[in-house]
Amino acid sequence: MIALLEKDCGLRRKAEILRWIESRGFRAHVTELPDASLVGVLGAGAEVLAAALQALPGVREVRPESPPWPLVSREHRPEATRVRVGNVVVGGREVVVAAGPCAVESEAQLQEAARGAAVAGARLLRGGAFKPRSSPYGFQGLGEEALRLLAAAREETGLPVVSEVLSEEDLPLVARHVDLLQIGARNMQNFRLLAAVGRQGKPVLLKRGLSATLEELLLAAEYVVSAGNPQVLLCERGIRTFERATRATLDLSAVPALRVRTHLPIVVDPSHAAGLRELVPALAAAAVAAGADGLLVEIHPRPEQALSDGRQSLDLPAFAGMMDVVRRVAAAVGRDVAG
Ligand code: PEP
Ligand code: MN
Repeated sequence: MIALLEKDCGLRRKAEILRWIESRGFRAHVTELPDASLVGVLGAGAEVLAAALQALPGVREVRPESPPWPLVSREHRPEATRVRVGNVVVGGREVVVAAGPCAVESEAQLQEAARGAAVAGARLLRGGAFKPRSSPYGFQGLGEEALRLLAAAREETGLPVVSEVLSEEDLPLVARHVDLLQIGARNMQNFRLLAAVGRQGKPVLLKRGLSATLEELLLAAEYVVSAGNPQVLLCERGIRTFERATRATLDLSAVPALRVRTHLPIVVDPSHAAGLRELVPALAAAAVAAGADGLLVEIHPRPEQALSDGRQSLDLPAFAGMMDVVRRVAAAVGRDVAG
């Protein structure tokens, strides 16, 4: 539920209204809009307060049906948000493809992958520097060295770079080197990290948690936006289900379901959903047909030698082939793909 307060109702009045909400066991989150103060009344069953809240002096309007993610909701902002990543815009007519290795392994590997990505029409370069591995014995990434290699690959190819930030502690370092900060599935509900990326200026690619509902994803995005950063891309990357034939189950219904709920751009990662490279082109094409604004795809010059996620990584010719299919599907749904 949201309430709009009169802009000129005064600080005292506003504080009283917030105390009134909180004394009834709900949380109030205030965002200042140009012409009103928007109060998100958060907590299950908040609608019971609607009539009484509406009657308080200073309250202009109460919308009991509004979702508890006011800032990312389409209700608050009907037009689509476009997020700029370097010189690339996500959320417009172009479907933006980000491609690169799961993890940066060496200068040669990244260079080769980056050139292959650029030639095939990718507009962003991905590469893990700090890897969230299930096992502590798995390759954890090259850290700062990988970030330097990504920055060098950006210089060479002109592609803005995206890499995951695993912790608040690493944020200043990662933010210094990358154009787009990735919050991984395992950190989607790391609320301190969400607030921290919300307090800095780089755009954020927020991946859906392995068992997160769309409501939880939108609430996670709300953390980032409410902390001050409106540049958020949502990413569907597959969820845990009973199915074992794929690594995760790509929830393509998330694309149109998010589209009606939020103005934020929607990206799909077919690689982590499939877990198998031979499934990736079909899922990528389907994501574009469903209306995705972007794709995040893992590629590797020699997937069989990859230190992580080789089984789901496309080699460079296969990626170029995928891009041809994706381009044709994009044209069929009135979108463009570079290349
Ligand atoms: C990744 O994109 O490198 C990654 C680890 O993905 P996820 O967080 O979706 O598992
Ligand atoms: Mn990976």
